[in-house]
Amino acid sequence: MTVNIPNISHREFENIVVGGGISGAAAAYYLAKSGGQCALIEQFDLNTQASGRNAGSLHGQIQYEGFHQLGETWARDFLPALKFLADSLEIWKGVSAELGVDLEVVQNGGLMIAESKAEFAALKKKVELERTLGIDAQLLSMKEVLEKAPYISTKMLGGAFSPIEGKANPLLAAPAFASAARTHGAQVITGVKVESIERQNEMYLLHTASGEFYCRNLVITANAGINYLTQQFGIEFPISNDPVQVSVSEMIAPMVKHLVYFTGEKLTFKQAKSGSLLIGGGWPAKVGPDGKAVFNPESFRANMRVALKVVPSISKVRIIRTWIGTGNGTPDHRPLIGEVSGYKGLYIGMFPYMGFTAGPLLGRTLANLILNADAERDLTPFALSRFG
Ligand SMILES: Cc1cc2nc3c(=O)[nH]c(=O)nc-3n(C[C@H](O)[C@H](O)[C@H](O)COP(=O)(O)OP(=O)(O)OC[C@H]3O[C@@H](n4cnc5c(N)ncnc54)[C@H](O)[C@@H]3O)c2cc1C
Repeated sequence: MTVNIPNISHREFENIVVGGGISGAAAAYYLAKSGGQCALIEQFDLNTQASGRNAGSLHGQIQYEGFHQLGETWARDFLPALKFLADSLEIWKGVSAELGVDLEVVQNGGLMIAESKAEFAALKKKVELERTLGIDAQLLSMKEVLEKAPYISTKMLGGAFSPIEGKANPLLAAPAFASAARTHGAQVITGVKVESIERQNEMYLLHTASGEFYCRNLVITANAGINYLTQQFGIEFPISNDPVQVSVSEMIAPMVKHLVYFTGEKLTFKQAKSGSLLIGGGWPAKVGPDGKAVFNPESFRANMRVALKVVPSISKVRIIRTWIGTGNGTPDHRPLIGEVSGYKGLYIGMFPYMGFTAGPLLGRTLANLILNADAERDLTPFALSRFG
């Protein structure tokens, strides 16, 4: 990693975004595109944390694990977040053309496969809730599942289909947003960690080992690093950040058109444009004695066992790599979006668990809040204040 501070004669910006993942890169893009003078500051290289390590699923349905564990009332309260994902998926449709980079976006839909009658009945309730948002989610018999995905085990009972889901390449997305932000005049600064922040009159003063930066509006999209920065103002959010694993196989002939999940256990399963299968679902990595995340063989075996149960024909496919990323969560699974109370111009943006999907809209929402105070939706369910 190299420190990259463009040749800037002054270090004062109207807007500074801290965090060069997809949320921050998208925020910088929408700010710069609308004429907002801005800098994006990242402590490492761009896209090296969650945004560049995720599984690239574009999610548009209530996740089964949450639905099963937290129940229907929770799911109802989650609907505004699902609508946020659905609206972000609309942006994903055109994002490659908008940014001028093929982000390998495919939106063929997602299949949630059920094994038991109880799970199938739960899927029915889940689909009904999703349909209240106008999402054309459907409950499928096993015959209908097999028509869409003939490789699914015939031991399964049926499934649910969400037509808006898909996949994109996480290695490309955030860098493409950052590059487009630069084209619109944003300064992209990497290898610079924001160590501390001070409020000075109407401005924020950011201290870094490479000098100080000033701004009127400060957007923190630092994900796992949000609390490190906000604690300095006496504010802390219940953000969990546990390491999880994703595995990738050798390249195989085209087989899987959809994003596939399973109700029984954690699984996301899809095929990248390259032909590789991407197998994940939130299986935990281990944390070593030095605090660093390391490969968890038990999780790996369990993840592969579940994948084989749902798609038995992959038994001979070789896995070539497993990697680890730090996931992000909030207790209610809803995002944190908004201005910090009492700190005019200080904004937080974080979408838990499915923040790759939400990234484009999160970026646009943060930019809109700053530029015209219009988030295009009611942000109350995502209010920072709900955690006290
Ligand atoms: C293994 C895994 C699989 C996942 N799969 C999916 C998926 O398939 N689909 C999906 O939608 N979501 C998925 N997610 C979740 C998704 O990746 C995240 O929600 C999303 O990437 C968060 O983006 P972000 O930009 O907010 O955060 P990040 O990508 O983490 O970016 C935050 C950036 O802030 C920087 N930063 C922090 N502190 C400072 C500081 N003090 N100064 C300067 N910079 C700082 C960090 O270095 C980092 O680059 C997955 C996550 C993981 C870990």
